[in-house]
Amino acid sequence: MQHVPLKWLTRLRLALGLYSLYFVAGYGLTTIFELPDIQSALALNVYLAILASVHLLYELSIGLLMFKRSPWTSAAISLAAVSLIAFIAIEMTGNYSSPYWIMLFTLIFLSGMLGSYIAPGFVFILTIGLVFSVTGFFTGDFELIHGLTVVGLGILISVINHFVWRRYYETPEKKDSQLAAMLKNKQLQSETLVRSISDGVIVTDTDGKITLMNPAAATLSAWPIEEATGLDLHSVLSLTQENDAPLEVDLFKQVMANKKPASSYVTLTDRQGSRKYIVSLVISPVLAPKTEELLGVVAVLRDVSRQRREEQQRAEFISTASHEMRTPVAAIEGYLALAMNEKISKIDSKARSHLEKAYASTKHLGKLFQDLLTSAKAEDGRLVSHPVVVEMGSYLEKLVDTLKFGAEKKGLLTDFVIGGTEESGSQVGGKVVRPLYYASVDPDRLREAITNLFDNAVKYTEKGKVSIGLTGDQQVIQIFIQDTGSGIPAEDVPHLFQKFYRVDNSATRTVGGTGLGLFICRKIIELYGGRIWVESTVGKGSTFYINLPRLDTQQAQRLQASQTDNSTQT
Ligand code: ADP
Repeated sequence: MQHVPLKWLTRLRLALGLYSLYFVAGYGLTTIFELPDIQSALALNVYLAILASVHLLYELSIGLLMFKRSPWTSAAISLAAVSLIAFIAIEMTGNYSSPYWIMLFTLIFLSGMLGSYIAPGFVFILTIGLVFSVTGFFTGDFELIHGLTVVGLGILISVINHFVWRRYYETPEKKDSQLAAMLKNKQLQSETLVRSISDGVIVTDTDGKITLMNPAAATLSAWPIEEATGLDLHSVLSLTQENDAPLEVDLFKQVMANKKPASSYVTLTDRQGSRKYIVSLVISPVLAPKTEELLGVVAVLRDVSRQRREEQQRAEFISTASHEMRTPVAAIEGYLALAMNEKISKIDSKARSHLEKAYASTKHLGKLFQDLLTSAKAEDGRLVSHPVVVEMGSYLEKLVDTLKFGAEKKGLLTDFVIGGTEESGSQVGGKVVRPLYYASVDPDRLREAITNLFDNAVKYTEKGKVSIGLTGDQQVIQIFIQDTGSGIPAEDVPHLFQKFYRVDNSATRTVGGTGLGLFICRKIIELYGGRIWVESTVGKGSTFYINLPRLDTQQAQRLQASQTDNSTQT
């Protein structure tokens, strides 16, 4: 139901209460001061005093309680009660000449507060009642002019009501502004929330000046909030890479430039330089709601030092354990090989078959420990790597020469393609000169990765061909290892380079593997700023791609020269 705002309804109830109080007090005072003339002229009698007291009691009890739940009904009952009093007062004070017409018309006017339908309805009932009773319809001295005057006035007031009160009715837009007011409170609430979050939260404007900082961020950085607010973020947050090297990119600037969130693990050193935390830093842009204009950034810092320490301990345990276990496994492997050597041991064919199985399993175990050790090292950045300038064409050619025997043993063809496209080679004096692809990598580590990809291609290919290719452009070198094997289902592709992930199919069930190979490959390629991915069609085969940053010839020569300098000095 439409009605004016609650504070206005409260005022209406107060006005109605005052009317009743007038009748109660008026009767009381005229009785005390013995003024019977005034009493009869203004109908200040005991009946109306009682009615008015009942109304006042209602206002203070049931009306008050009801007002909380349904203010509209509570006020309407009050209005009806006071109208009844006015009605009777008019009748008792000479009808047309009664001063209480004013009271009745003000009540009709006030009824407009209760809603656009209530006002005309109220007016209609009242005026009909008045016309019939007050104007003497029943007593026979009814005069049409009086009746019409009352009806006319009632209708007039109701029209006025319509225009006056409807402006105050609570419309949906006004509800909206109430919501806005509530949102203001919400703002307070979110401030409280930001303050209570145990992650550090820092908000900066587009100049990088801190506009908001929560206590957790203050504790991490050891900067009091008041002091840090308004300062440049970089002077408050001393951030370096996890290994303490300076940050390669300013993430804050990057987020402001791209208007896209960015995250990283970084080391945060506090103000005194006495404490260092490994923090997960997530920076998001703050954009204006409609215009998407950049207003600043919000950074969330979570202290992950403890997790990092635990991860490191786990990795250390795995690497120590696998290192220790490799030695006895190698010994077993050696003794089994001796046992199977016809020149040294005499065994029957049944025992030989058992020993061969034991030997294969031991080899697998040795590979598993080796992979575990490498992946644990890769995870905590201890993978030994000595990058040098390598010319990929000749490097791969030699590598393929040694790898191809594995494929040929299985009856697979091998192929090495340099420069997939025509323009990659140029004719000089009738000879095709192939482009030189230089990269800065550790040849042993890269061999490990490519050998693993090649071995996989052979392992998961029954017949056909395994090709290794090398192409590239000015910036990148692309190596690919292609097979005509079983292929990899699309749903497995995103997980393939994770630790211990193996596709669950008949091929992997029969072919032994650790599920660590591709993880190690990825870690190695990432070591040199490269990228590894796969494209595969089930039943047709897979192609694993490696992209590495390419050095141009001058860069390569310069780097080579400095490397030879270094090695001669040491
Ligand atoms: P694994 O020791 O099991 O070979 P990898 O990490 O090297 O571990 O490979 C993970 C999984 O990826 C393998 O188990 C296999 O299911 C799938 N896979 C890898 N290379 C190929 C390939 N060339 N063709 C088909 N599936 C492959």
